[in-house]
Amino acid sequence: MTLRTVREALAHARALGVDRLDAQCLVGHVLKRDRAWVLAHDDDALDGAATGALASLLQRRAAGEPLAYLVGEREFHGLTLQVTPDVLVPRPDTETLVDWAIELLDGELAHLEAPRVIDLGTGSGAIALAVKQACPRAEVHASDLSDAALAVARGNGERLGLAVAWHRGAWWHATGSQRFDLALSNPPYVSPGDAHLAALAHEPGMALVPAGDAGTGLADLERIVAGASAHLNPGAWLLLEHGFDQADAVRRQLRRAGFQGPQTRADLAGQPRATGAPYRP
Ligand code: GLN
Repeated sequence: MTLRTVREALAHARALGVDRLDAQCLVGHVLKRDRAWVLAHDDDALDGAATGALASLLQRRAAGEPLAYLVGEREFHGLTLQVTPDVLVPRPDTETLVDWAIELLDGELAHLEAPRVIDLGTGSGAIALAVKQACPRAEVHASDLSDAALAVARGNGERLGLAVAWHRGAWWHATGSQRFDLALSNPPYVSPGDAHLAALAHEPGMALVPAGDAGTGLADLERIVAGASAHLNPGAWLLLEHGFDQADAVRRQLRRAGFQGPQTRADLAGQPRATGAPYRP
């Protein structure tokens, strides 16, 4: 293997089966340059340290580690978030949920001076931070069961200068008897036997597969919906991300729990990805 220049490194990446864009990002990461620089410096020599670091990163990418973990960050809804293997990598699909939340805060919930918002199972803090960034008047809370995830989320909040109240605990238990005007969640919703889990092996299982799930992937969505009435103000909205084939089930759960007229929105790929409704007991 020769990796003496940027061009050779990119050729090596191709031989390993690493996507070209990913390879350019990794070259840029190691050399502390942006992608535009990488594109314009094909013939630049790599020193020994860069070669070693790059060879190892390309190998790890080829073995399936998400690019976001290798470079330590991911862009989400215009924010640069630090991510570690303790948190799910934020997905563009989840921006559907964030856009919907912002629409509600600017629309139906606009009359609230300081709407109380919670992001249940926040992981890197992506949803909570994107909402706080777009809607500074909101009082944003976020919870997670994992201390390690909360440390990542808190760090992101501090770095971005966005004030979010972080709580440790399972779903609604994290915030005791507090009530909210808008609750958001991208909970684990992959069923334990799902074939595409193999491709997600580097991400935290607890963020992907619900604990004690019967095989539908719906267990945590159910827990969140079941607990909602005790933690939402009348007229509050609950928005949930879910799998492409779970929208009907989530709408049924919501109707049973006192929510009115559940709606579903599609992600960028056109798949039903988020379902929500107002709580009107
Ligand atoms: N959207 C993720 C995936 O299937 C799953 C995230 C989740 O379970 N919340 O890749």
